[in-house]
Order: sequence, then structure tokens, then C-alpha cells
Amino acid sequence: MSAARADRLVERLHERELDSLLVTNLVNVRYLSGFTGTNGLCVVGPEQRFFLTDFRYVERAQSEVPDFERLRGKQDLLGDAAARLSGRVGFEDQHMSVRQHERLRGLVPDGVELVAAGGIVEELRAVKEPDELRAMREAAALADDMYAYIQERGLVGRTEHEVAVDVEREMRARGAEDPSFPSIVAAGANGALPHATPGSAEIPADTLVIIDMGCRVDGYCSDCTRTFATGSLSDEAGSVYDLVLVAQEESLAAIHAGADCQGVDAVARERIGGAGYGERFGHGLGHGVGLEIHEAPRLAQSVEGTLVTGNAVTVEPGVYVPGAFGVRIEDLVVVSDEGSEVLSHFPKELITVGA
Ligand code: ZN
Ligand code: ZN
Repeated sequence: MSAARADRLVERLHERELDSLLVTNLVNVRYLSGFTGTNGLCVVGPEQRFFLTDFRYVERAQSEVPDFERLRGKQDLLGDAAARLSGRVGFEDQHMSVRQHERLRGLVPDGVELVAAGGIVEELRAVKEPDELRAMREAAALADDMYAYIQERGLVGRTEHEVAVDVEREMRARGAEDPSFPSIVAAGANGALPHATPGSAEIPADTLVIIDMGCRVDGYCSDCTRTFATGSLSDEAGSVYDLVLVAQEESLAAIHAGADCQGVDAVARERIGGAGYGERFGHGLGHGVGLEIHEAPRLAQSVEGTLVTGNAVTVEPGVYVPGAFGVRIEDLVVVSDEGSEVLSHFPKELITVGA
């Protein structure tokens, strides 16, 4: 599996006239080699394919990294890697500090040309393989189960923090490695802050509660948001919910291989803007998901690019009314030739959850 990924990477290097790529970002190292430890790097080229770690991970690498020549370096691996480089070598400039880059320049043998080449592995990662999709389907199904669990347990009278802790404990008990990011539980006016941290106030009746969470399965993330009512709502809150739901479903329907990333975002933005809430939708429509919770591609204004089959993205419009409430509805979907496969299955019509 990872041999095929490295082969695909070599094709990309060819296009950029690189002799090899020095991969130092650990998520990219994992993607290419299978290594899950915290100190490793790899170098991939048509003639070179080695993986380097320190003594702590030699044994782990033996089982996790079968397709690479495995080498043991000092704890600081850059020097050991640099000595083996030659020709035009790409490095991941998005993930390397200026200081590391300076060091690397001092360490490479004469004649080595270092070329900023970040994003190549990320491009490969943006197109999921069947095995990756299997893990993501599982992670999404687990998130669905968590919303049903929240519904059973109730919201009113519990604190946001309690709900978040409880759901994260439960997802682990049911097989998640971790939450894919710190869960958001945001009631009433807190819901108007798109990245609110769960607080210690009790969730009241008659408001909206945004719950945004995901589970990690076999390294892969899911990401889902549902907004629950805790009783009767103001007319505005009710109509904003309906608006966000329509915008979510319309933009979801616009997803297919070949669709413009900006154009899909615009579908939701026009719907929400048309209702007078354009200023209240202050983030992009969605983002890629995979080994990381935010990865390529992005669905947003001023983003170049088109969707391709195998992209896994979220569709998550939101409207945030300061001092009052927020609504966000988010599904995780896989792009296909015909449209998309939606991985999130928990219902999206407004559900009331009481005590
Ligand atoms: Zn989310
Ligand atoms: Zn998201």
C-alpha cells in the first residue's frame, strides 16, 4: 500500500524535476511509510527510498515500515538524512522552520540544491483510497451514534463541558482512538462563537446548542455538526435553522467530481446572503478531512481548484447571531463522479432535546 503511494509521489517529483523529496512532516511520513511514532522522516525518489528513525522506534519501524530501507539515526535525524541527499532535493517548506532550513542547508553535501516543495504529499492525501474511506466511514458512523447518545442523555441542566467530556469518554468506549479534535458544545449565545470552548454554565431550555465533534478510527478523522433545540425557539432562531439546512442541502447537492471549490461555497453563500445573513456566515463552507481534521481541498471563497473523485470534504454552512445563538450543520462527504457519498447519517431536521 505505502509502496504504491511512494510510486505516485515519484511521478509528481518527475513533473517538478526533483531527484527526491525529504519528507519531515510526521503525518506525511505516516501516509507514505506507515510509521506512527513521533520521530521519523523519509526520503523518496526514483532511486532512493529510505526511512530514518532513532533507537526508540527501530522495533516499531520494523513492523510498520516494510516498504522502505530502514535506517537508524541519531535523535536529531536531519544530519543523518542530509548526508545521503544528492541532486535537486525537495523539502516540505510548509512544515520546516527557518532555523531547521538553515541547518539543513549547512548539512547537505556540496552540489545539493534544496527546493521548496511543500504540499506534494498533501495533494496525494487529498484523494482517498478504499482503505482510507473504510476507516472514515467507520469514524463517521461512530459520530452518528454519538449524536443519538446525546439525544438519549439529554442536554438541559447539564453543562457544555459535562456533555463534551461524556461524549468523548463514550466514543472511546465504543472504539474511537480519540476525538478527532476537542469537541464543541455551545449553547445559546456561545453558539455564535464558531470555535467556542465548552463552558461551565448549565445548558438552558428554549435555546439552540451547536455540537461539533468527530472520532478518529485507524488514524482517520470524522467531522460532524448538529444543532439541537432545547425547547421552543424564537421565530428568528427557527427560521435561521431552516435557512442553514436549505443552504447545507443545496451546497451538498452541488458536490461532484469537476465541481469548482469556490462555486460550491457560493451556493450556500448566496442562499444565506439572499436571506440577509451573509455577514453572519464568516467561515468557509468546508474542508478536506483525512489523517488530519483540516486538510486539502478547501471549499471557500477565493480558493482555486476543482473537486476530484475520492476527495473527502465537509459541507458546513453556519449562521451566527452575536449575543443570541448560532446554527451550523455539517456533513462529511466523499466526492464521486455522480455526486457524493454522504458519510454522516444522523438526521438534520430540527430535533428537540430536553433534560
Ligand atoms: Zn466540525
Ligand atoms: Zn469541519
